[in-house]
Amino acid sequence: MTASLIAGNWKMNGHKADLAELDALIEGLGGATAPEVLLCPPATLVAGFAGRAAGSPVAIGGQDCHSEPAGAHTGDISAAMLADAGATAVILGHSERRADHGETDVLVAWKLVAAWAAGLRPILCVGETLEDRDAGRAEAVVARQLAASIPDTEETPAADLGARLVVAYEPVWAIGTGRTAGTADIAAMHGMIRARLAERFGEAGGAVPLLYGGSVKPGNAAEIFALADVDGALVGGASLKAADFLKIIAAAR
Ligand code: PGA
Repeated sequence: MTASLIAGNWKMNGHKADLAELDALIEGLGGATAPEVLLCPPATLVAGFAGRAAGSPVAIGGQDCHSEPAGAHTGDISAAMLADAGATAVILGHSERRADHGETDVLVAWKLVAAWAAGLRPILCVGETLEDRDAGRAEAVVARQLAASIPDTEETPAADLGARLVVAYEPVWAIGTGRTAGTADIAAMHGMIRARLAERFGEAGGAVPLLYGGSVKPGNAAEIFALADVDGALVGGASLKAADFLKIIAAAR
């Protein structure tokens, strides 16, 4: 099975000089539009990257946004600001935000509403800790995050949810550690997520792209993309260098 969407998460890495990596990525893609490629640099680089990527197959996204449209929130960035800077997507509920900033499922759900209101496509991250997995509650934790981080409001797009939302399964213990989840565990979790989305949102829920994230590298991408219900990857460390990221994108074809 080929993968349809490869997203890069630069986290708190990257300066203006790294525009060279974006240039190399665009050049390496040579105009190919499949799979879809999304790069999420730090907020300071969104406008510059979006300007440079305009007209190329690379879309630019943010890594977080505030749940409110504007106001007295020093240091925060709204979804509309990201859209204004040229972003078309935003990562929400990443485990590093949940851990470092105490983000709850309810807050993440409101951020999804804010992203949709600004016309951004949220990439909702879910994933269990090692403690959860060892205690045998990995599926229950992910199911809870999935249920509670997708809002139950009329703002949730019903018919076209598949085009308006992406879910990334990222086991916390596999992020940046060089450890990936076993293929059987990834397949089981993605199957569960697919089933829950279809149960709740019908056909549109079943069409939401599901990404795997956590130490995806050029060497393991192909076997992950071959799994049922894996539609792509959310790539951290290996998205920083265009050469590595291009190899992962090639494995998706
Ligand atoms: P990693 O990060 O690929 O460096 O493990 C993935 C992520 O946190 O999105």
